[in-house]
Amino acid sequence: MSHVVVVGSFNVDHVWNCATLPRLGETLSGRYHTGPGGKGFNQAVAAARAGAETGFLCALGNDDGGRQARALAEADGIDLRVHDSSQPTGTAGIYVDEAGHNTIVIGAGANADLSVAWLGRQAAALAGARVLLSQLESPLDSVLEAMRLARAAGTITMLNPAPANAQCLRELLAAADILTPNETEFAALLERHTSHRIDSDAIAGTPDAQLHRLCRTLLPRGTVVITLGAAGAFVSHREDLLRGDDAPFYRVAADKVEPVDTTGAGDAFNGALAAAYAAAHAHPFAEHVRFANRYAGLSTEHVGAALAMPRLAAGG
Ligand code: ATP
Repeated sequence: MSHVVVVGSFNVDHVWNCATLPRLGETLSGRYHTGPGGKGFNQAVAAARAGAETGFLCALGNDDGGRQARALAEADGIDLRVHDSSQPTGTAGIYVDEAGHNTIVIGAGANADLSVAWLGRQAAALAGARVLLSQLESPLDSVLEAMRLARAAGTITMLNPAPANAQCLRELLAAADILTPNETEFAALLERHTSHRIDSDAIAGTPDAQLHRLCRTLLPRGTVVITLGAAGAFVSHREDLLRGDDAPFYRVAADKVEPVDTTGAGDAFNGALAAAYAAAHAHPFAEHVRFANRYAGLSTEHVGAALAMPRLAAGG
């Protein structure tokens, strides 16, 4: 039985590091590397390396990318369940400039085939887990089906509403027990689903009580955890569900680290938070957020996405 089940994407990342980002019609040369990625897979690897028995439900093509995903999942002890797709495995083309800014094009490929019907056949895996973790790089109706199946069985549902430009249905928000946007995603969700507007750059400086009110407006039924990069995370709980040691809202500072590559820091945070919560859900929630900060901070000290996830067990 898995403690954490992740439903989501696997992509083969193709990354070019260039002096500048290419402009329209421009041809540049850059340093190239390739590696496994996709928010779903990154988060599954993080959960597994944070010590959780982890399952990963995804769609893969019958190609080198699909075989790579299977081999990597096996190496990390992840219980992989694959919807076999006739499309190529997902890919991402990523350009990164010297300042660390990037532009990304995703070819969803097989990820777009992750179907509601197939997920329906994984109900036992979803019901057996403590925590279901999902993101928005898979078809939204399939993510919603997974969350509904999980919730109906008493599994805690966690939604990382990323990437920020993805649609996030109101029904998905309603099906989430824990929502984990970064600042850009939080601002985008507020704008789309409430009458409130906030500049993503202003979130870290917003007074806690005001941020708490905004979180309650967005997700009245659940916990919101906004990741704040080097500033750590802000947490807002539904007050009538608080356990003894939890305050309604608070910040948890990040660890001091020497980042070399923050790609996938959000995925590291999500996988680690799911693992920590699944391992000791009765403990104060702030303890799990502290671990997720530590884990995500460590991930920034290594280059890469899935392969940069540290081995650091929650509670260890
Ligand atoms: P990405 O898109 O790069 O994966 P994100 O924007 O989704 O990241 P962030 O809020 O930037 O997510 O970072 C997630 C978590 O990673 C933070 O809450 C923090 O715990 C950790 N983190 C990120 N950057 C730093 C940093 N410079 N120093 C320490 N911790 C960091």
